[in-house]
Amino acid sequence: MKAAVLYKPYDIRLEDVETPRIRADQVLVRVRAVGICGSDVHYYRTGRAGVYVVKEPIILGHECSGEIAEIGSDVEGFKPGDRVVIEPGFPCRRCSYCKSGRYNLCENMQFYGTPPVNGAFCEYIAADADFVYKMPENLTFEEGSMIEPLSVGIHATRRGHITAEDTVTILGAGPIGLLALQAVRARGVTTVYVTDIQDYLLEHAKRLGASETINARREDPVRRIMELTDGKGTDVVIEAVGSVETGRQTFEIVKRGGRIVIIGVFPKTEF
Ligand SMILES: [Zn+2]
Ligand SMILES: [Zn+2]
Repeated sequence: MKAAVLYKPYDIRLEDVETPRIRADQVLVRVRAVGICGSDVHYYRTGRAGVYVVKEPIILGHECSGEIAEIGSDVEGFKPGDRVVIEPGFPCRRCSYCKSGRYNLCENMQFYGTPPVNGAFCEYIAADADFVYKMPENLTFEEGSMIEPLSVGIHATRRGHITAEDTVTILGAGPIGLLALQAVRARGVTTVYVTDIQDYLLEHAKRLGASETINARREDPVRRIMELTDGKGTDVVIEAVGSVETGRQTFEIVKRGGRIVIIGVFPKTEF
């Protein structure tokens, strides 16, 4: 099969590689759409993302949808041609996090497109069958590939125990911030403030239901949100940037007794 293989920063080569073989509990998925995540861009530009470093050539990509091409002998419930999305992280199922049901925190996670595990910028990918989900008919493959980042936003609303009566601030209007915004709105929240430093992203936030957008380049977001809330702040603050500055702002914007949800990955652990 064809695959896009990253060798080093700015060096991706289209190559013929072996089509993955599936285990009895897996399915083979013919890839139809893959999102480009911020982490893919980090690997492409710098050869690393967070603590992960590209040492061997790797196929990137983890936000993926496709069609069932082959079914392992132990797998039930799928037929060839089924349109599916894949949950891209495969936990060990044995550590304390897995056993407590919070398998997204697994210490031994195997994640597509994260060294040393190959990802989905290729024609076929093997996936554990219980991490593969059928897509509704009305969803396109491109939309299906956004289910993984959308689930990050949905998870943030759950961790923040967000209900319709909450007021919410979202710091960052990149794809993750915008998907979190839609998840927050779907919970019935009517007051959502969104900050970013790019006007075109804030335009999207407006279109997707932000009550007020703040360009942090032009205006101090903390002061503006305090003005909007009579000095109280918002019940929940979602951080979707991963910068020291927005990390600090969460504490200043959150209301007394409120909740802070950190999605962003910080370059250092102190702020
Ligand atoms: Zn991602
Ligand atoms: Zn585990």
